[in-house]
Amino acid sequence: MTQRLALITGGEGGIGTEICRQLGAAGRKIITTCLDPEAENIEQWASNLRAEGIDADWVQCDVSDNEACVKMAEEVRSRFGEVDVLVNVAGITRDAFLHKMDASQWYSVININLNGAYNVTSQFIAGMRERGFGRVVNISSVNGQTGQFGQTNYSAAKAGLHGFTMALAKEGAPKGVTANTVSPGYIKTSMTAAIPEQVREAIVAQIPAGDMGTPEDIARAVAFLTADEAGYINGANLPVNGALFCSF
Ligand code: NAD
Repeated sequence: MTQRLALITGGEGGIGTEICRQLGAAGRKIITTCLDPEAENIEQWASNLRAEGIDADWVQCDVSDNEACVKMAEEVRSRFGEVDVLVNVAGITRDAFLHKMDASQWYSVININLNGAYNVTSQFIAGMRERGFGRVVNISSVNGQTGQFGQTNYSAAKAGLHGFTMALAKEGAPKGVTANTVSPGYIKTSMTAAIPEQVREAIVAQIPAGDMGTPEDIARAVAFLTADEAGYINGANLPVNGALFCSF
C-alpha cells in the first residue's frame, strides 16, 4: 500500500509536533503548514524529525487566508500528492472579557481557529471522498465544551469546531471519510506557559489527575482516530483532560 499523506496545520507547535511525531511513527508521510518559516525555524524542525526517522516536510500557509489555502493545497498536491489524513491543530488565544475584547481579538481567534479549519479542510475533502478514504481530526478544547472566563472568542470557535466535525462526519461516512474532534484539557505547551503562574496553579488544583497533560497524551488520541482501522469512529469528540470535565 502507498504511504498515506498526513497534513497537520500548526504542526510545528507544542501539540502539533508530537502529533507529527506519532503519525510519522505510524508510517504516515508528514507535512506541516507553517506561518513564518524563519521565525518558526521550520527547516531545523523538519530536520530534527527526519533525524528521528520521521518523513517530514512543510509548506507555508496562513490558515486564516482562504486564497493562501487554495495555493497551499496546489503546492501539496504537486510536491507530495493527495492528502489522506488532515489534523487541524493551528490555533491561538486572544483572551479578554467580552466587555473589554476588541473586534480584532474576536475575529483573529474565529478566523484562525474556526475559519482556518474550513479553509484547509475544504481543499482536501472532495479528494478524500473520491478515493473512498479520509481521516479528519479537529483539535478543539475543554473550554469549547464548558465555556471559560475571558474566552468568548476561543470558546465559540472551539465549540463551533465540533459542530463542523459532526456535520462533516455525516457527509463523509458513506464515502469512507471520518471526522472527529479531540478536546484537550490543559496541556503543557507555550500556550499554557503564557498563563500567569497563580492562575495556572489554580487550574491545576481543579484537575483530578493532579497535573496538566502532555502533548503526547493528545497525539495518542489523534493517532488512534486517524488509524486506517478507525473507520467506524465518526463524529465523536474525544476529551483528553485528566477528568477535568466529564460528560456523556
Ligand atoms: P502552540 O502555540 O504551540 O501551537 C499553535 C500552532 O498554530 C503554531 O504552530 C502556530 O504557528 C500555528 N498557527 C497560529 N496561527 C496560525 C495561522 N494563522 N496559520 C497557520 N498556523 C498558525 O499551541 P499548542 O498548545 O500546541 O496548541 C495547539 C492546538 O491545541 C490549538 O488549536 C489550541 O487551541 C489547542 N489546545 C491547546 C491546549 C493547551 O493546553 N495547550 C488546550 C486545549 C486546546
